Amino acid sequence: MSLNLQSDVSLRPYNTFGVDVRARLFAEAHDESEVREALRLALQHGVPLRVIGGGSNLLLTRNVEALVVRMASRGIRILEDDGDRVLVEAEAGEPWHPFVQWSLAQGLVGLENLSLIPGTVGAAPIQNIGAYGVELKDLFAGLTALDRQSGELRDFCLDDCSFAYRDSLFKQQPDRWLILRVRFALSRTASLLLDYGPVRQRLHEQGIEVPTPQDVSQAICAIRSEKLPDPAKLGNAGSFFKNPLIAATQAEGIRAEYPDLVSYPAADGQVKLAAGWLIERAGWKGYRDGDAGVHRLQALVLVNYGRASGEELLNLARRIQADIHERFGVSLEIEPNVF
Ligand code: FAD
Ligand code: NAP
Repeated sequence: MSLNLQSDVSLRPYNTFGVDVRARLFAEAHDESEVREALRLALQHGVPLRVIGGGSNLLLTRNVEALVVRMASRGIRILEDDGDRVLVEAEAGEPWHPFVQWSLAQGLVGLENLSLIPGTVGAAPIQNIGAYGVELKDLFAGLTALDRQSGELRDFCLDDCSFAYRDSLFKQQPDRWLILRVRFALSRTASLLLDYGPVRQRLHEQGIEVPTPQDVSQAICAIRSEKLPDPAKLGNAGSFFKNPLIAATQAEGIRAEYPDLVSYPAADGQVKLAAGWLIERAGWKGYRDGDAGVHRLQALVLVNYGRASGEELLNLARRIQADIHERFGVSLEIEPNVF
């Protein structure tokens, strides 16, 4: 296949915030050779290459003076199956949730808690996607990436990736690695993780005491659909801020003033605060300024009611950050990738 290079393309359909900025050049890459062709063309036109997947973790604040390449490679294959442990490989452009559903249909356990996350397989390692107590790293078996500096392919194992809470080597080095395919170690017998948030309670209400992975996936889809805005109806990029990790002593100081503070123990004696609680407690839930707003059901999600620009959304985020810092002495870090 040969790349279909287009000029001056609106990126509105390619980011879930629905922000209307333009890309100087745009193409979809269906395989490795098209990715390499995109790199060559970017060089030829003297612009950088920016890779995107589903655009569900992006905030586009201005026209993108680059060749934007959208990963559209498809393919899922089972590499090994010993009757229990199953090694699965998926191409970067595979949409994430249908991939999860495919794995469940094969009778494989592991990805059910990561149901209904938008985006692509190739972007999932970038921020080590996580939900309901499971992170991508828990199922990760390896990936193949193109080193944009040397043009060589490199295989990464778990220890190479510096996975952390919503973070990875690939997020730290955004212009170096272009992920082509990802491998997952799934199982036919692993136990399910139900004790996070309202999952077990939801299953109980449905009369399900011994759930299958599909039951868990369906329960999580239902919970998420009730609480999170559907990007097809209301522009958003999911959680806009990471949950802050702070010292236990600082958390106790905040709790003295706010006894209902929501926090969880984290690694190294730190405490994880629910950023959504901080924002809600500060009165931002449901706030709207023009078309930029804070979702009325989940304060961690910024929304675009129609024509908000990336700058307007970023300004709102900065006002929230400043207010949270003033009230609680806590810094909120933006989660989406700002272009
Ligand atoms: P994009 O937004 O297109 O890109 C994200 C970043 O990855 C960019 O920096 C891009 O340059 C880079 N990138 C994309 N593809 C590649 C590639 N092949 N190689 C190298 N770099 C690449 N996230 C969670 O962790 N947990 C959740 O529960 C969750 N829920 C969400 C719910 C909603 C409603 C929304 C809108 C978002 C949610 N997200 C969640 C955020 C988002 O869906 C994930 O981060 C997802 O993995 C982003 O995938 P994408 O393909 O859309 O990436
Ligand atoms: P929630 O269930 O209302 O919980 C609020 C916060 O408390 C979450 O941020 C979660 O942290 C934390 N939490 C809840 N139970 C916990 C436990 N047992 N141990 C440790 N921490 C706990 O959250 P929600 O907004 O509806 O989201 C549900 C899940 O989907 C969460 O895991 C969330 O991360 C994920 N999600 C992520 C995005 C995104 O864009 N990144 C968007 C929507 C949902 P964690 O966030 O660390 O899990």
